Amino acid sequence: MQIYLVGGAVRDSLLGREVKENDWVIVGATPEQMIELGFKPVGKDFPVFLHPKTNEEYALARTERKQGRGYKGFVFHTGIDVTLEEDLKRRDLTINAIAQDDDGNIIDPYNGQKDLKNKIFRHVSKAFIEDPLRVIRVARFAAKLPEFNLHPDTLHMMQEISASNEIEALEPQRVWKEIARALNEEVPSRFFEYLELCDALKILFPELEEVEIAIKRLAYAASLGLRPEVLWAALLYHTDSYHIKLIDQRLNTPKKYHEIAYLSHESCPIWANIENNNAEEYLQWLKMVDAFRRPERFKILLEVCKYCEECNGILKAEKCDEVYESANQITAEPFVKQGLKGLEIGKAIDKARIEAISKIL
Ligand code: ATP
Ligand code: MG
Repeated sequence: MQIYLVGGAVRDSLLGREVKENDWVIVGATPEQMIELGFKPVGKDFPVFLHPKTNEEYALARTERKQGRGYKGFVFHTGIDVTLEEDLKRRDLTINAIAQDDDGNIIDPYNGQKDLKNKIFRHVSKAFIEDPLRVIRVARFAAKLPEFNLHPDTLHMMQEISASNEIEALEPQRVWKEIARALNEEVPSRFFEYLELCDALKILFPELEEVEIAIKRLAYAASLGLRPEVLWAALLYHTDSYHIKLIDQRLNTPKKYHEIAYLSHESCPIWANIENNNAEEYLQWLKMVDAFRRPERFKILLEVCKYCEECNGILKAEKCDEVYESANQITAEPFVKQGLKGLEIGKAIDKARIEAISKIL
């Protein structure tokens, strides 16, 4: 059997970038041999194994053919007869279809190195069209490698995929995985611009309002190095809560993402009216966003206010923080000592908090 390093690790090391994870492909082995060598099988759908010591992923070389709609429509073939070239051919982009052997020799049957040099995203073969996830992956690579551009033929194929209704059949967790990765890449806004370019944005996010402004806002937040959940909230800032919910349900977004997006949208009336809110309104808002029990999340929420509010975001966030700090100084302890019970304590805390907020307004 022969073992080759493939995919992102080879691409990134040729680009002189930091390599984050190694993916390996094995040619000429059976699953039984792999298990005998101590590898742990993991893939339900693919013959993928984890190395007994490094825990890195090793996949048996495979070919694939599309036979039906969606992700489940693929037929895989693995066997000791599958060659490295055949395995590389089923990969998305030429820059991701380069292998490296033990001695450091590069195997590059689809001219990935040339495309790396010319900074081009180019499909490996016509089979590119068979997996709609590739549209989303290429958009993610655009966010990761901002100096690269799309080959026109690849763009056409991506547009063809978008027109085919296949994107709708993707499994939400595969889609979200690429979105979350995109939000962590170098220029996340490019991910959404590329989706737009190949007509996939309106399929993935039909609810997104003010698309151009939304992407600009996200780009600004990303340029400041803000965390991915704030970027997500920035993107959805002008989309109403009902539609944010639809997006979240469809993509099954993790809680930390949808909470911030939802809460920042719900906070807009308070932020918009920052000078005129009274103490009761501020307290009601702090309770609605659960600021006293979730202080860390509250500070993240204020980042959204700081950078997404068109006017005076920084001042508004500071004011909200001041209001919060004054209210947060009030605790239950003195009221318990006074002998208050149950609901009375809550009422007394609220009253004291309103007084504290009023003082600083
Ligand atoms: P990153 O460094 O950002 O993880 P990567 O290229 O390693 O990028 P992975 O998702 O880890 O991306 O996939 C590893 C490799 O597997 C890719 O480089 C590509 O060759 C291949 N690959 C993964 N998903 C697909 C797909 N849907 N279609 C075709 N090839 C794919
Ligand atoms: Mg990888």
